[in-house]
This record gives sequence, structure tokens and C-alpha cells, in this order.
Amino acid sequence: MSSIIQLLPDHVANQIAAGEVVQRPASVVKELLENAVDAKATDIKLIIKDAGKALVQVIDNGLGMSVTDARLCFERHATSKIRKAEDLFSLHTKGFRGEALASIAAIAHVDMKTKQDQEELGTQIIVEGSKFVSQEVAVLPKGTSFAVKNLFFNIPARRNFLKSDTVEYRHIIDEFQRVALAHPNIYFTFFHNGSEMFNLPPSSMRQRIVNVFSGKTNEKLVPVQEETEIVTIQGFVSKPEFAKKSRGEQFFFVNDRFIKSGYLHHAIMAAYDGILRDGAQPSYFLYLTVPPNTIDINIHPTKTEIKFDDEHAMYAILRASIKHSLGQFNVAPVLDFDRDSNLDTPYSYKNLEGATPTIQVDGSFNPFSDDKINKHYSGSNYKKPEPTSSWESLYVGLKQEGEFISGSSDFSFESEEVTGSLFNEEEVEQTVNNAYQIHKKYIVSPIKSGMVIVDQQRAHQRVLYEQFLTNMTVNQASSQQLLFPLDLFFSATEMELIQDLKLSLVNTGFVFEETTTDHVVISGIPVNVTESEVSLVLEQLLSDLQDGIPDSSFSQNDTIAKSMAKSLAVKTGTALTVKEQENLVNGLFACKDPNVSPFQKPTFITMRVEDLDKKFAL
Ligand code: ADP
Ligand code: MG
Repeated sequence: MSSIIQLLPDHVANQIAAGEVVQRPASVVKELLENAVDAKATDIKLIIKDAGKALVQVIDNGLGMSVTDARLCFERHATSKIRKAEDLFSLHTKGFRGEALASIAAIAHVDMKTKQDQEELGTQIIVEGSKFVSQEVAVLPKGTSFAVKNLFFNIPARRNFLKSDTVEYRHIIDEFQRVALAHPNIYFTFFHNGSEMFNLPPSSMRQRIVNVFSGKTNEKLVPVQEETEIVTIQGFVSKPEFAKKSRGEQFFFVNDRFIKSGYLHHAIMAAYDGILRDGAQPSYFLYLTVPPNTIDINIHPTKTEIKFDDEHAMYAILRASIKHSLGQFNVAPVLDFDRDSNLDTPYSYKNLEGATPTIQVDGSFNPFSDDKINKHYSGSNYKKPEPTSSWESLYVGLKQEGEFISGSSDFSFESEEVTGSLFNEEEVEQTVNNAYQIHKKYIVSPIKSGMVIVDQQRAHQRVLYEQFLTNMTVNQASSQQLLFPLDLFFSATEMELIQDLKLSLVNTGFVFEETTTDHVVISGIPVNVTESEVSLVLEQLLSDLQDGIPDSSFSQNDTIAKSMAKSLAVKTGTALTVKEQENLVNGLFACKDPNVSPFQKPTFITMRVEDLDKKFAL
């Protein structure tokens, strides 16, 4: 029987290996930047075109390569960084596998220029899909330039797999930021399609963070400093009141290498225990220095995970030092995070001494004689309610029996006298209820067949969502002009998203006076947004877009409408006036799809009189 096993030719093996090293343009950015850092460059330029799909170029002023090395660097397992396996445990470089350049050259067009300081002339090599196309002697400055063009030109399937430019560009920014933050002493510049996106002169760690994430970052940071036998920790964490909804700005560096660690992240969250609002994420930029022989960075092919010898000690030290910093800078006991003044009053009312809520009841009132609440009940389930005396007496009975109101902790009604004055003076006189709010969460309202119980938050989300969507699709959102335009700062990544969404945002009623790489000036806002809510709305939106901007304008509008509805909807825990309750219920049933929130959760349930009868029959 004939034998069938063959060794794969190098270019095939390289292409296969490339699958692991190069997933997307951002992987090329990472490898080239790290090589430049390893070559001791002090000035590194990153130039990309079309989110790296057309070009990724890194120019450094580092050590450069000899003619022989220039040729050898494209071979697989060709590295100057380790000689033997033990070297892995005294590693001071980013690279060590010697497979990045071989992999990249297997799946792209590479134009490399390199010159060592002491040489007169340098070398230029062009490789396309692992084939050496040319090698020439050239007059060059000191250092190395790698231009990687047409990524995946010979693997169309991989090329087709790439995401939109926005998504790929964000991955590149992520990689760039990681390297730039790890090396504040190196001058980094970054150009995308000819515009300068980052210009980061050598600076302190804190200044570098601020330069990467815009000026407003500075006031957020609290320094962390701890030196122990097994680790030195330096860096910054954010004050709890600046915690964000997204996990964007969280960075661990171990020996100047960006790493991910769920375990250490947990240590940080533990340090913030009790001082963050639900789901909020602190920013952190932490630089850990450990003896190289106490970590194993070899457990993950893309090298963002590492293993520590003594993880438990690391956890404890990290948590303690962050707790200490937060305490020292007096930022720990901050309890009120995002109180909106609009929402404040009902809570403070709660603390008022001895003021037992009183309810004014119009005993002669028949809730079913007033049909204004019914005119929007257009859903098929809803018919115009008809008088049902048992309902009337049930309501009235409840209201008259004081113990239900003040005595029962799990069944309390807000008096309209109080809530009315909180929100709207005109409501004070209103004594007629077609809707009741219970537990500041649900609104109960009678309907012909029984009653409907509406979840106020979800219902309001639905109402706002449809409003925004209508405004956006008919392009006639009304906008309120601001007397003093708002100047809001965002990181480069966030600004990029805002730019991409600008048109859709304008359709909701935003007016942008100016957008630069790190801030926007907003001179008009949608009518249903207040000035103090603007940054909340935008921040929520950016956090909702973590996974990329939808390609079609329809789904962009949808995402924006959902996100704004989520930010602006009245929350569980907010007391509503009767008028507000009625408006909400009416608004909900005027919606095209009143049954579910924009996030597909039920907005209301109904309970028929028969259901109640059954319960009472027991
Ligand atoms: P690794 O970084 O794991 O060693 P690479 O394939 O990334 O493997 O690079 C191979 C070798 O090419 C490196 O070990 C280094 O000697 C050389 N090299 C790569 N990029 C540069 C650069 N920008 N300047 C100088 N030498 C470089
Ligand atoms: Mg490398």
C-alpha cells in the first residue's frame, strides 16, 4: 500500500498558522507595534487605510535589521528574542514566537524597509503571499517600516469574514491604546485615512492616559501605588462616581504587556464593593510589575492571558491597595450617584417626619362614567369599560380604609395630593383616579373585563421608543435650542461612533454645532430630553453600541430609539401623579405594539373579574 503522508509546503503551513495569529487587521497592528517596541523604538507611527483592510503600516526609529535578518525575519520560528525554552521565564520582550511576520507575509502584500543605525544603507524587501518578490539595497532612515497591504488577499473567505470598517477600526484603536498606555515613554502617532487620530508625545503615565482618553479623564483618576515582594502595583482607578455603564476603560498591564484577567478584575470589583451603583463599571489602568519567572505568558496563543505563580496573593494585594486608595482619597462613601433632580423629590418626601399620606376621596365618583381613559384602548383586548359597581366599591373601600394606606408596608398608595404637587401644581386638585400606582412600579387601571396592570418602566419605554422611531423615520423631529451649547468630551473611540451616528442623532432632534476628535458641541436637543439628561443618553447609547454600529440606517434608528427609550423612561421606584399615570396608560395603548417593551418584555397583564371571583370563591 502506498504511503500518503506529506509535509506541507512552507507557504501552506504559514497560511494555516496565520489563522491563529492574524484574525483581523487589528492583529497586524498589534504584532507590528510590539515588534517596534521590542526594537527599542522611541517614536512609532501607525498609519492605516480603510480600517486596516487596505493598509496597516508601522514606522519605527528602532534598531533596524541587518540584510540577513531582514530576510530571515519572514521565516517561521525565526526570532531574535529567545534561544531556548528557559528564556521564556526571563522574557523582557513582547514577541518570542517568531511567527508573526511569517504569518502576516503569508496572507498579505508586505513592503518592508529597514536600516540599522551604524549602516550606510538599508534593505527593502517585498513579499506577497510568502513569495519573495524583490530585495533591494536602499537609502533609508534608521529604523524599520512595515507596510502590510491587502490583508487576506489570497483567502477571500477570511476577507469576507471581516466586519464593517467601524468595527475593525475599533479593534485597531483598542490594540493601539493598549500598546500606547503600556509605553508612555514612547512617542506614538496614529493616522487613519490621512487624518491624525492620536498624537501622544512621551509623558508620565497619568498624562498618557489623559491624552488617550481625552481631558475629562484627569479628574476621574485616583492613584494606586503598592510595593510588595511579589508585585509592584502602580496606576490609577476611577472615582466611583465616574463609573461607566460599559467596560471600556479597564486595563491591566503585567510587565508592560496588556493582559486580560477575569480573576483580577474581580479583585478590583471587590475593592469597590458597596460603592458602585448596580452594573456600573469603574475605569482602571493598572501596571503590575512581577519577576518574569513568576508568570507564564505562554498559555494563550494571542498572549493576552497569563498565569501567576501566586494568584491568591495577587488578588488580595490588588484588592487591598485599591481599597486603600479609594479610602485615602476620600472617595469611598459616595452614595448618591446619578440622582436626577426630577427624581429626587419623591424619595426625600419619604423621609419627611410623621406626614401620614392622606387621600382625598370623592365617594360619589364613579370611575366608569368618565370615558376619557378609554378612548385609546384600541388593542383588541380592550373595549370601552362599562360601569361595574363592584369595581367602584372595591376602589372606594380601599381608599377609605386607612390601614391599607398607612398600615401595610407592601401595599401603599401615593396620595395624589403629595405627588401632584411634586410634579405639577395643576394636579393638586385632582381627586379622581382611573389609575393607581402601586409600589411605585405598577399602574392598575380598570377595564371592562376586569383590570389591567401596567409595568410603568416598560410601558414608558414602549411609548418613548415609538415616539423616537416615528420622529426619526419622518425626519421631522422637533428640537429645543439650548441657550448655552453643551460642550461634551468623549474618547476617540466614542467620537468615532458619534460621527457615524450623527445623521440618525440629528433625526432625533440633536443639533451638533461642532464635532472634533475629542468633543462635541451640542446646541439643540430632542424635545423629550432635558439638558441634564443629554450626557446620560449619549453615554448609554455608546455603551449599547459596544458591539458595533448596525449597518443599515433602519437598524441604527432602532438602536438609538431603544437606547434613548431605556435612558429616559420613568424608572421603577418613581412616584407618578394620577395624570401621569393616566397619560402613560393612554400612551401605551395608543402605541402600535403596546404588548411588549422595545426589549420584548411584557408591558402589562390583565386580570378578569372572573379570575378575581375565583380567588374569592376559595
Ligand atoms: P517575534 O517578535 O516573536 O520574535 P516576529 O515574527 O514578530 O517574531 O519577528 C521576527 C523577528 O524580526 C524579531 O525577533 C526581530 O528580530 C525582527 N523584527 C521584527 N520587527 C522588527 C522591527 N520593527 N525592528 C527590528 N527588528 C524587527
Ligand atoms: Mg513579534
